[in-house]
Amino acid sequence: MTEKTNLLGFTLAAMTEWFATLGEKPFRAKQVFRWIHQRGVADFDAMTDLAKSLRAKLHEHAEVRAPEILSEHRSADGTVKWLFDVGVGNGIETVFIPEYDRGTLCVSSQVGCALDCKFCSTGRQGFNRDLGIAEIIGQVSVANRRLEEMAREGLAYRLARKPEDDGVEPEPAGLDRTDERRPVTNVVMMGMGEPLNNFVPVTDAMEIMLDDHAYGLSRRRVTLSTSGVVPGIRKLMERLPVALAVSLHAPNDELRSSIMPINNTYPIETLMDACREYLAVAPRDFITFEYVMLSGVNDSIAHAKQLVKLLSKIPSKVNLIPFNPFGDSGFVRTDMEATRKFQSVLTDAGYIATVRKTRGDDIDAACGQLAGQVVNRMKKKTIKIHREAA
Ligand code: SAH
Ligand code: SF4
Repeated sequence: MTEKTNLLGFTLAAMTEWFATLGEKPFRAKQVFRWIHQRGVADFDAMTDLAKSLRAKLHEHAEVRAPEILSEHRSADGTVKWLFDVGVGNGIETVFIPEYDRGTLCVSSQVGCALDCKFCSTGRQGFNRDLGIAEIIGQVSVANRRLEEMAREGLAYRLARKPEDDGVEPEPAGLDRTDERRPVTNVVMMGMGEPLNNFVPVTDAMEIMLDDHAYGLSRRRVTLSTSGVVPGIRKLMERLPVALAVSLHAPNDELRSSIMPINNTYPIETLMDACREYLAVAPRDFITFEYVMLSGVNDSIAHAKQLVKLLSKIPSKVNLIPFNPFGDSGFVRTDMEATRKFQSVLTDAGYIATVRKTRGDDIDAACGQLAGQVVNRMKKKTIKIHREAA
């Protein structure tokens, strides 16, 4: 028996093409696409407006298969983390971060990551493989479905009110809100993996996120975070210029290379040039730079001043991330007082600099803590090369 085609992994254009091979019209493809993504329906028999003959064809040739949830954890602050099964002992993690006015899903793009940033738990796990489109968009699809289910069980998927609004009557959250179609209103490609190193599946999946017949998110509501894969940034400009976040983490090449090996390939000046070019097509008029605060490593006032100088050439927003510890990382989080001092150097120079609120750290769901289950193939390779050499 030939393997069934997984329709979850199709953009609308690809779905239309595939339907044509069945002798079916484009509007049929659109109907099925909407059932899958807008209604979260995987069973062709439940797609009630399709002809019986088409349903039979679909049963024979196709399926809608999303990765399955292996485990689910809910943090005291409402953050939810799922571990998804992606086969042969591998698992990827996806995190939902509820806020008052939005629900952000942090999506993974690879099983592990090959880039080996020293402060990152995913990097420490090594790399197994790229995720396919269905596995990437499947995280969005399953999260929406599961959150709706949780809301029906009485677990809200929005914070009831803004944290700073103390004293204000809480507003109803969750399904009572009628201003949004689905729980996930924003996506950040900030889970496991380097999204630009898995370009085609990631951008195809983002195309589905933006499609009005699927999730209908605007380009401003989808953010891709990269450690600085310069050719990928340029390709993204052409293909699908969503909001861009760049993991900078150091204001000079020597320091950046020591904690992010990718800087040896694409040093800071090259990266800044690509960011400047990206601004011409970006949905926002600034680039977000992420900067993880590592005590005694990159967090001095001198570093902050260097950063001010570096960013003077480019409209930017800086997001300072408190380092989230894991295992024997060897790094320590900068304390809040020093973080605020660092921040004020930036704000005094006229930048918007925010300190990211740590969410979900009680369930290891915070930035850089996603480890999933990665059967590391890089290590195996090293051992093999070793043996062959011996
Ligand atoms: N590979 C991409 C996206 C995933 S990482 C990238 O590197 O941009 C998402 C963000 O979390 C990045 O800015 C990353 O540098 C940051 N991060 C990694 N490890 C961290 C840690 N231990 N604590 C806080 N942030 C971390
Ligand atoms: Fe990969 Fe990003 Fe982690 Fe670096 S910070 S190892 S690029 S996931």
